[in-house]
Amino acid sequence: MADLDPSTLLRQIPAVGTLLDDPASAGLLADYPRSRVIAALQEVLEDLREHIRTGRPVVPAAERIRDEARARLGHDFLPHLVRVVNATGVVLNTNLGRAPLPEAALLRAVEVGAAYSNLEIDLETGRRGHRKSHLEPLLARLCGAEAAIAVNNNAAAVLLVVDTLARGQEVVVSRGELVEIGGSFRIPDVITASGAQLKEVGTTNKTRSEDFERAIGERTGMLLKCHRSNFKLVGFTEEVGATELAAIAHRHDLPAVLDLGSGTLVDLALIGLPHEPTVLEAIRADVDLVTFSGDKLLGGPQAGIVVGKRAFIERLEANPLMRALRLDKTVIAMLEATLRLYLDPEGVLASVPALAMLAATPESLVPRARALAERLAAIGLAAVAAPGVSAPGGGSLPGVQLDTWVVRIGPGPGAGVSVQVLADRLRMASTPVLGRLFDGSLLLDVRTLLEGDDDRIVAAFREVLIDEAIGLSRGTP
Ligand SMILES: *Cc1c(COP(=O)(O)O)cnc(C)c1O
Repeated sequence: MADLDPSTLLRQIPAVGTLLDDPASAGLLADYPRSRVIAALQEVLEDLREHIRTGRPVVPAAERIRDEARARLGHDFLPHLVRVVNATGVVLNTNLGRAPLPEAALLRAVEVGAAYSNLEIDLETGRRGHRKSHLEPLLARLCGAEAAIAVNNNAAAVLLVVDTLARGQEVVVSRGELVEIGGSFRIPDVITASGAQLKEVGTTNKTRSEDFERAIGERTGMLLKCHRSNFKLVGFTEEVGATELAAIAHRHDLPAVLDLGSGTLVDLALIGLPHEPTVLEAIRADVDLVTFSGDKLLGGPQAGIVVGKRAFIERLEANPLMRALRLDKTVIAMLEATLRLYLDPEGVLASVPALAMLAATPESLVPRARALAERLAAIGLAAVAAPGVSAPGGGSLPGVQLDTWVVRIGPGPGAGVSVQVLADRLRMASTPVLGRLFDGSLLLDVRTLLEGDDDRIVAAFREVLIDEAIGLSRGTP
């Protein structure tokens, strides 16, 4: 017992210099800057002293001190934003970063980001250029619009439009379209934040053109239509379409704006999905401005795009808010590259990962589900391939379910823990895996898996099962 005496223990604590000189510290010094290693060791030693002083008899083994220092350094130096495996089947999963980016886009971000670029210089004249020049012609062409501009996200796009066209005036919107997207974007709040007033018309289920006509007056700044991106209105409903809304607005010399939200450039009916209004259709409806996201159905980086009539786009550009909302060069590079993929309407279904995932047929997913189920069964899990349903997600295609194939993992011999615990542990694996709990099973939807994810899933399960075995041998629950 004598060596558990606090003063004896305190004397046993090695000096930082001794620890550093020990060849066993070479690994730490190779992985992290020397000054940070010293600081981490000092911190650990200080905590040890504190433990001993407060009566906890900790034996200060050098190896444990180094391990603890390594853990703390890892916390400081390893990235916090990390890759995860999306096995939820939700393609545009906002919490998991929405669209996985096309390879072509990422390559352009590296190339442009690592060097200087012609971001704001006209290479022909040598004079000052504009960052929108990299996107505008492409966007205009793809959307059939006169002009275009891009900002940070679609929320920013709506804010900019309302602030520019209706500050101090009224924005007329149907009561059936006062949407909330993802908890933080609410159309009424964005209108108020841009210094305009919301003028609601119609009812939750029915809004007619007379409702708009009656609401228009001296103080009206614009008419706004919002796409119901994340819910469906069914039953007895009536709405004012984009063409009709534009006609009403123009009769009163007012602008009509359509917030499309997900805004697809391709007709999703081509890949067997329900038709979602395209940006091209909105422009053809003679709406003055259309706003949509870069990272929803477009499948690119986070951005907000506004396309429409030149006179209005020019007013947006002149708004001082533009400076606060403008895009970074790497995002411009990625958005430009993503848009170029759309110049090939067939190829884009394969080159934009979000579209490829949405387009995948259940038949094409079966082999992957079977192979993964077999690999997981081989390491002792009760895993089988089964049909299931996945969701487009991310404020697009509300109510649409896609037939898919999943790997269903039940509480079997390999998993001595409940599927809930299994799911929790997979989420904390070296490469986290996120699935879906359903009916007492853990489902891994193969629709949203990227290349190499099958290996990542098997590795995560191995980790979890090893931890589990160790946990059991230690007698923990
Ligand atoms: C998603 C969405 C937004 C917000 O777009 P972000 O790009 O997420 O800022 C706004 N309006 C509608 C209709 C949407 O669907």
